[in-house]
Amino acid sequence: MAERRRTSRQRDRIFEMLRETRDHPTARSIYQRVRRQFPDLSLGTVYRNLEVLVKQGLVNRLDFGGTFDRFEARILAHHHFVCEQCGAVSDLDIPVDQALTRRLRVATGLDATRHEIRLYGVCKACGTKANDRALRTKGAR
Ligand SMILES: [Zn+2]
Ligand SMILES: [Zn+2]
Repeated sequence: MAERRRTSRQRDRIFEMLRETRDHPTARSIYQRVRRQFPDLSLGTVYRNLEVLVKQGLVNRLDFGGTFDRFEARILAHHHFVCEQCGAVSDLDIPVDQALTRRLRVATGLDATRHEIRLYGVCKACGTKANDRALRTKGAR
């Protein structure tokens, strides 16, 4: 019983942490953040709790391949931008294109139930760093 209470407290904390962040953390990163509060927490427990939250529809999993999967508490359809340099994942506040669903239906007869489109490129932070480097190199010449 005490065991179950502790598990649900840990799960609540994981969910709360995901609601407070917008950086789409991996299970390992969630583990590192929540462990401060629950020193006896294991990575396996974090995986199991995330599994439950995803099944309950409270948390969205972004498939990046096994242990690199990322999690977020924002479950309404939205797109993502992935930085090819630092791996940062950010939410794109552009409307989900319903015309795509229609085009899919016309072309294949398939009905899409949800959208998640990933656009890849260089994030602003990495772009700024690259610019600074270019300027420094120019200045040195
Ligand atoms: Zn970046
Ligand atoms: Zn997102």
